[in-house]
Amino acid sequence: MNNPTATITAISTPSGKGGVALIRTSGADAVSIVSKCFIPKSNKPLSEYPSRTSVYGDVILDGERIDDAIATIFRAPNSYTGEDTVEITCHGGMLITKTVLEAVLACGAHPAEAGEFTRRAFISGKLSLTDAEAIGSLLEAKTHSQILLNSHTSRNRLNEEISSLHEGLLSLMTTLYANIDFPEEDLADLTPDEVLRILESALEKLSKLCASYKTGHAVNEGINTVICGKPNVGKSTLYNTLCKGEYAIVSEYAGTTRDLLEKTVSLGRVTLNLVDTAGIHETDAPVEKIGISLSRKKIEESELIFLVLDGSSSLDGEDFELIEALSNSNVPIIAIINKSDLPQKADTAFINEKFENVVTISAKNGGEEELSAIVDRLFTDEKISIGSDAIVSGARQYASLIRARDFLLSAASAQKAGYPSDLVSSDVSLAISALSELDGRAVNEDIISGIFSHFCVGK
Ligand code: GDP
Repeated sequence: MNNPTATITAISTPSGKGGVALIRTSGADAVSIVSKCFIPKSNKPLSEYPSRTSVYGDVILDGERIDDAIATIFRAPNSYTGEDTVEITCHGGMLITKTVLEAVLACGAHPAEAGEFTRRAFISGKLSLTDAEAIGSLLEAKTHSQILLNSHTSRNRLNEEISSLHEGLLSLMTTLYANIDFPEEDLADLTPDEVLRILESALEKLSKLCASYKTGHAVNEGINTVICGKPNVGKSTLYNTLCKGEYAIVSEYAGTTRDLLEKTVSLGRVTLNLVDTAGIHETDAPVEKIGISLSRKKIEESELIFLVLDGSSSLDGEDFELIEALSNSNVPIIAIINKSDLPQKADTAFINEKFENVVTISAKNGGEEELSAIVDRLFTDEKISIGSDAIVSGARQYASLIRARDFLLSAASAQKAGYPSDLVSSDVSLAISALSELDGRAVNEDIISGIFSHFCVGK
């Protein structure tokens, strides 16, 4: 781990050949270090340029001009990290980019670690911890909804909600403590009913935020979804349709899919961590048996099951066995009656009786819209607008919120029961601590390290 005051540098663009690449340097000595290896064409020293200016010049290593590039200066606190920062945009070849980095390192910068720029932004107060998490998710985004959910507007809404709750509770706690310390002076201008109203209004906001995690989880973390069914019902065809490509082998021969195929896809607003599995049936083929046992394991770990049935043939013993095995599952199941383009023979009344969610599609010709309507209804709140509402999108954030809500519930019942103010205020204080962990005002080092270790070097 670098000394927090060290000036750090890294390539911030992905490795590979590109039009341009960016080398970011941040820290108190950023300008002076880069000045040693970047000579402006104007011959005016880099250090004399004001913040937020881009300067054309040459990058020098061992006395040789290795590239012509643009250096952009951001002076503290007006930079991503909140520190003095210089970003060199050079030509984007792999070797030239590494050589420019070498030049900056040779002038005294330290190699940045994964997520170290964003960690510094958090430490200097430019970002909250929820902002940093959103930026991490944005880098990993695979769906349009994930981009909206982690956008600047969306994360600002969450910050505003948390800050407003934090400030409201802090002010309540100050009043309650004043009342404990100086009861005779009547410093607290709040009646017991007013205290209760403040607690209940905070609880309402907290509960709304907690409820938003249902949608946040479905969009950001994704729903672990397994496609299962007996062989040849169209599981791989459905997988390919949802993945929008030929990823799984489709054939009329049973037992083609043996390995699990996994891909993250977007269905309506929801992200599915989708798995195509081996068809479940009785077989003596050893490799297929392994595939089937993997399928069963995946089904146990899933959050959503797509049970595919072939609508063009009558249900048989294997279908009935699967239907019976799954019909008492705690996980939502969508029974998909496939091959609707062919004459239908399956007993749909029986399927409708067994499952709450049934959809008839032709996976060969589509079916995403029909499925997406059900998945959206099951996993998101239709009243929530992704991209403009405050949404909690990670398990860590949700756990802190639940803790804050539980302490406030306890504070509200203590207040209702007429318990002394110190009992109420101690619960309020614990709720504030939980909120502080949520946005990182007070959070332990292990949590911070865990979050930033998922970032790439250069971010
Ligand atoms: P899996 O074994 O359950 O993965 O089934 P596949 O996806 O490999 O499909 C088995 C056969 O059914 C293939 O010949 C597919 O072309 C065919 N099939 C799949 N979906 C449909 C559909 O919607 N309509 C028709 N007519 N055939 C389909």
